[in-house]
Amino acid sequence: MRFHVVTIFPEMFDSYLKESILGRAIKDKKISIKFYNPRDFIKAPKNNYKPVDDKPYGGGPGMVMKAEPLLKAVAKALGIAKGKKVKIILFSTSGKKFETSYAKKIIKQKYTDIVLISGRYEGIDARVQKILKAEEISIGDYVLTGGELPAMVLIDSISRQIPGVLGKYESLEEERVSSSEVYTRPEVLKYKGKNYKVPKVLLSGNHAKINEWKKKK
Ligand code: SAM
Repeated sequence: MRFHVVTIFPEMFDSYLKESILGRAIKDKKISIKFYNPRDFIKAPKNNYKPVDDKPYGGGPGMVMKAEPLLKAVAKALGIAKGKKVKIILFSTSGKKFETSYAKKIIKQKYTDIVLISGRYEGIDARVQKILKAEEISIGDYVLTGGELPAMVLIDSISRQIPGVLGKYESLEEERVSSSEVYTRPEVLKYKGKNYKVPKVLLSGNHAKINEWKKKK
């Protein structure tokens, strides 16, 4: 799977993508990630600042990301992904809510290239979505400062659905009985004069009962 991220802050992704499971997936060539900075698609004399935003029509505070540099950045990505099965996603607070089922569908439908457009400021000129017929996605009912975290969330969630990305010990939670309430050694944790014990059932060795407990949790 190849992810094409359109962002004015590509460096934000560096440390997240180089560590742990995603870092390994990149090394193993299970996924690859390319960045396209809209600023690179603005013509301006050398060393001149290249604004990617402008004032909103209709007034109001904040700035809006201009359409042309974003469209040029996406065109570059689409050129690289020519002939492949491509999905274009644009991050928006009012988009369809992202869920694991969406990540699974992307894999099932055999997309090879995903273009992720990260907004900033007051958002992206609405014509970008209309022209590209991009799918608008929100990662939750809260407003972030930009679409970079949403892009990382999708890359992470979609990548872990790709066969071989997760190791044996990290296998997909949703396909086994798992619980968010987990414990490790010591069996009795002493903290500020109190003893905190691991639930007895987890020490029982009875896997049917353990699974039942996990399901309840
Ligand atoms: N004015 C916009 C609004 O009221 O919906 C908020 C813009 S937000 C500060 C800037 C950008 O961050 C958005 O264009 C979008 O790309 C991204 N973003 C912020 N929160 C998001 C969320 N919950 N899901 C997806 N993208 C989000």
